[in-house]
Amino acid sequence: MVILPLHHSANHAYVGRFAPSPTGPLHLGSLFTALASFLDARSHKGKWLLRIDDLDTPRNKEGSVDAILKTLEVFGLHWDGSVCYQNQHLDKYEDLLHQLEQNQLTYRCTCSRKSLAEMFSGDRLNSKHSVYPGNCRNKAIPARIPHAIRLKVDPCTLTFNDELQGLISHDLAQQHGDFILKRKDGIIAYQFAVVVDDYLQGINHVVRGRDLFEETPKQIYLQQLLGFPTPTYMHVPVIVDQQGYKLSKQTLATAVDTQLPNKILFDLLVLLKQNPPDELGGASINELLDWAIGNWQPDDLALCCTINA
Ligand code: GLU
Ligand code: ZN
Repeated sequence: MVILPLHHSANHAYVGRFAPSPTGPLHLGSLFTALASFLDARSHKGKWLLRIDDLDTPRNKEGSVDAILKTLEVFGLHWDGSVCYQNQHLDKYEDLLHQLEQNQLTYRCTCSRKSLAEMFSGDRLNSKHSVYPGNCRNKAIPARIPHAIRLKVDPCTLTFNDELQGLISHDLAQQHGDFILKRKDGIIAYQFAVVVDDYLQGINHVVRGRDLFEETPKQIYLQQLLGFPTPTYMHVPVIVDQQGYKLSKQTLATAVDTQLPNKILFDLLVLLKQNPPDELGGASINELLDWAIGNWQPDDLALCCTINA
């Protein structure tokens, strides 16, 4: 079965978003993504919403929401409406999970990360990329035993056309297997939450980092099961350090310096391959953003996975 997502009609008002996790302050890589999604939304006269992806509470870091909001403000990336927090959607996730359960599309799984890792240890691939073999699919594990909830993924080819990365086709069952909707620690998994959040916020354009490109087919599969429309997707390259690692908390990427935002904004426009004219070197944040919105042209980022900081 080939499922092709329908594209939204051109007159559909653009609604985009930036969805940082509050695991620390914004670093250059996350600001790069924020700027790309902001420019894409504003150049389409669209809305740009801000959502704080705060479900993974053990990873949240105190003070990071304030730091993120402040950095966005300093760089002139003003969002529309009030800030949305995933924890406002907890009831909705549970309702929809229940609905999937009722339709026998999910099952309980007690496999630990360790037991799966052992199972995959003879595998050429590391466990992160190995496909869950469905051990618990037919076990009918009682609810009182601590468990994760997995989605039954049927064999199907899912194809979508990314605005920058081109066409991607995944055989979900073979390449991803039955994936987790709710973790054993009770936390709703990213894949499931993001689909529900984007739907609840009416998001029809997702611009985000290339690191999430391979996750997208799973999200589209879930959207189709839940009867939600599929947004258009644009995955922009991720910024990497000199060693080629993605800037992240793990690579100790530092917080963006908010003292000299104009210079950093100019540099980010260069990294985004927007070729800002030299005269804009001394321009204010607003002048830089006005120019960037009027001249936004992401095509040079096509088929590009990483960019060196
Ligand atoms: N919160 C996710 C992250 O910071 C992004 C989610 C998304 O854009 O889909 O990586
Ligand atoms: Zn299992």
